[in-house]
Amino acid sequence: MPDTHALAERASPGQLAIYDAIVIGAGISGMYMLYRLRELGMTVRVFEAGSDVGGTWYWNRYPGARFDSESWTYGYSFSKELMAEWDWKEHFSPQPDTLEYLNYVADKFDLRRDIGFRSTVVAAHWDEAANRWNVTLENGQRANSRFLFTAIGILSAYTLPAIPGRDSFTGPAYHPARWPHTPVDFTGNRVGLIGTGATAIQAIPEIAKQAKHLTVFQRRPNWAAPLHNSKISKEEMAAIKSRYEEIYAHCATTPSWFIHQADPRKTLDVPPEEREAFWEKLYGEPGFGIWMGNFRDILTSEDANAAISAFIAKKIRQRVKDPKVADKLIPKDHGFGTRRVPLESGYFEAYNRDNVTLVDTLVDEPIECITPRGIKTIRQEHEFDILVYATGFDGVTGAYDRIDIRGENGLRLKDAWAETPRTYLGMLAEGFPNMLMVLGPHTARGNIPQAVSHSVEFQAGLLRFMQQHDHTRVATRPEQVDEWTRIVIKAGEALLSFKVDSWQNGVNRNVEGRTVRRVLGYNGNGAHFRRTTDEVAKGGYQEFAFR
Ligand code: NAP
Repeated sequence: MPDTHALAERASPGQLAIYDAIVIGAGISGMYMLYRLRELGMTVRVFEAGSDVGGTWYWNRYPGARFDSESWTYGYSFSKELMAEWDWKEHFSPQPDTLEYLNYVADKFDLRRDIGFRSTVVAAHWDEAANRWNVTLENGQRANSRFLFTAIGILSAYTLPAIPGRDSFTGPAYHPARWPHTPVDFTGNRVGLIGTGATAIQAIPEIAKQAKHLTVFQRRPNWAAPLHNSKISKEEMAAIKSRYEEIYAHCATTPSWFIHQADPRKTLDVPPEEREAFWEKLYGEPGFGIWMGNFRDILTSEDANAAISAFIAKKIRQRVKDPKVADKLIPKDHGFGTRRVPLESGYFEAYNRDNVTLVDTLVDEPIECITPRGIKTIRQEHEFDILVYATGFDGVTGAYDRIDIRGENGLRLKDAWAETPRTYLGMLAEGFPNMLMVLGPHTARGNIPQAVSHSVEFQAGLLRFMQQHDHTRVATRPEQVDEWTRIVIKAGEALLSFKVDSWQNGVNRNVEGRTVRRVLGYNGNGAHFRRTTDEVAKGGYQEFAFR
């Protein structure tokens, strides 16, 4: 794989490499940002911790990893040629195909020549006098730029379980976000896996197929629904390509930029039989329809949510043979859809296998510690050959906290956001001029590449405007930050999802201090967000402060 080394990598410690823009991260966001910044004639350097492009899809190579959004809404839409050339093989693309796609994009647009791999950014400090960012890499190399783009993802700061003895296990232990590049062979092995989030729910059925025995340690169960993945035939792909414009235009009008649009009816207004038939239909269809194409009040009304939760619980009972195991797999502390719904392929059936055991660590067998031989609960020591920690991420702000980012007057971003992020549109943080965030906190997300594209295009437009008007500094305005933060928090707190702990609310008990819920995303309508940003652009970006 070509890994071109530009000035920054060749510079010896102490030497300073100078660019117009530095982008942190070469995943979906950073790659597209680089493409757009080049168009603006800027000198750009992307710093990427991995040894190649792909971000999430570079790191997460665990068995079963795949999209649960439709592949044909997941690609970049900036190049008609690219869209015409690329054939998705499955409706929900597996990780190797997605990584292949991102490599194809990197090759096609010759992106690698401006990317420094194995280049972890550890600090970024704003120099007010120079109006520039000073960036330091882990190896001590330094670089400097007018603009800094954080394309660091919302789920990149992975977290290991804070369980005593974690490092004492003598066998191999893996986190899915740092999976080896050569597949792990579970054949004949006793495997212990901690976690039952979206990652585990994808990995469990695959590991179960290979392992001698798989023991799943579940703290809190998650609601999950079938993915219904299938191959895309040549004819189907041709038909999708002919409709790309229509598909992407449609996604832009939906609340989360997926193909799914909520049903305008309220759950309890619909007669029970009709409701049941509608849910049966959604449960049998591919993708997020059961979550995003459901009645409009399932995520806001307790009663509506209880009804859909009862329906999904019934499905789990039908699919899991042992009623006691089924009961353990049904969440009791939160309703369907109030945490991110994992889509699964045979997850519940995995528990019907003789070689899979579910251990409920919340009630039956709390974990005491990890030992050299396995996992010790209050009842017994479970012995394993391999451990998998599918224990998630320090979501949204975690990746920011891992970099020493300092803005005006030396303000540390981590401190500034301790209570809540304060941003305008989730793109620019208060006190951090010229630092533009792709998928920053308090921005609209949903279908990630679509959110990324929108963010990158808005920011490229902002930069073009600055070039045209000879501005070299952009910052937030206090009144805009106040208003945006208020809107975001109000919308987030109104949802049932704010009543439950999850990475989406910034709760992660494996990380010190991550025990208080914070609204971390814009939970309003994505289409409305798009209109807001369009108006800001059309109005000449008056909501920003330029110099
Ligand atoms: P997650 O949803 O946060 O799940 C982490 C799991 O580990 C939870 O079950 C959690 O239990 C458990 N856990 C954490 N620390 C523990 C400890 N100390 N002891 C026992 N159990 C512990 O993380 P994830 O599964 O990696 O998924 C994160 C997000 O990534 C998803 O929500 C999704 O947005 C994204 N994702 C997407 C895809 C896709 O597109 N197909 C696939 C995978 C992931 P508690 O619930 O009790 O905390």
